[in-house]
Amino acid sequence: KIGWILVGASTVAREWMVDAIGQQGDAEVLAVVSRDAARGAAFAAQFGIAASYTDLDAALAHPGADAVYISTTNEWHMSQTLQAARAGKHVLCEKPLALNLEDARRMVDGCAEAGVVLGINHHLRNAATHGKVRELIRAGEIGQPLYCRVLHANNLPQHLRGWRLDAPESGGVTLDMFVHDVDTLRFLLDSEPRHVTACATSGGMTVAGLEEGLMAVIEFDNGTLVQVHDAYNAPHSLSGVEIIGSKGTIFATGVMTQRPVGSISLTRDGGSIDIPVEHENLYVRSVRAFQRAMRGEGQPAATGDDGMRALATALAAQQASRSHQRVTLAG
Ligand code: NDP
Repeated sequence: KIGWILVGASTVAREWMVDAIGQQGDAEVLAVVSRDAARGAAFAAQFGIAASYTDLDAALAHPGADAVYISTTNEWHMSQTLQAARAGKHVLCEKPLALNLEDARRMVDGCAEAGVVLGINHHLRNAATHGKVRELIRAGEIGQPLYCRVLHANNLPQHLRGWRLDAPESGGVTLDMFVHDVDTLRFLLDSEPRHVTACATSGGMTVAGLEEGLMAVIEFDNGTLVQVHDAYNAPHSLSGVEIIGSKGTIFATGVMTQRPVGSISLTRDGGSIDIPVEHENLYVRSVRAFQRAMRGEGQPAATGDDGMRALATALAAQQASRSHQRVTLAG
């Protein structure tokens, strides 16, 4: 069995990842790491995990540990990834990969030098819906993609209204949600973001200066113009992705979510049809791809490079909204 160490007694681990690892059949969570001994012990007890640690090095030395899943707050991702890599453990890290591109580069290089797999838990590219949309685009069903709209504004759940709203290193909605949109768009469009223009709001739910709502336009290398809307303070808003091509339009409704739900319609001359989707838990797929990569079978669903590109675009959007300038990404 693949032995996992959870770094961070976090909500995302609690709600999704303990189960996703458990569902693999050939994997086991051996220990959890928390800065708070009582929180770690309670987390371990809740999920029947044998050990909890407050010290990462001690956890990395746990017998049978092969991989770590890092879901601490963002400012810890870089140092903990490098620590795990140096101990020879494969790393599945949460997004945003890091707080800046220099740190992200160190993580990618550090894992490569240590010969361990680095994967980023950009869950949306694991959704059956997004996979199907990608297939339709690649099969030419809508011709050349021209425009795209991403609706990802929602209501930040009460239990997540902590560090996201007041810690500068959270990066607000830009490093929290927009970063996922960019990864999804790169996956769907098979193209790279080139220029970003953005406006943001803050100071209602977040502290002043930390973005809670973002509207951005991304110009992709293949010419597609993309409009993205993310928000923490938009209850009752719909989620979806619309891709308008030269021959047709795909509308994927309810797909910007952690849950395996949503539907797809394809509209062309002659009318609209519903596209069937076989849903599967996104996080189960993420862990499955990561474990295959550990065995030398392909890449994680999102690689360190994918994490870097999503981060670079999110930082560009942050810069664009703060400076009111269009920002061009490096090639
Ligand atoms: P949480 O706030 O739940 O957990 C982050 C850290 O906060 C934990 O590691 C824990 O520290 C500490 N913590 C947890 N509960 C408490 C508490 N009750 N009181 C005090 N401290 C607490 O964050 P999330 O799970 O929402 O996010 C963690 C990371 O995962 C982030 O990087 C985020 O961007 C990412 N994320 C990714 C998602 C995805 O779908 N890919 C979804 C949600 C988040 P300690 O470990 O020391 O116990």
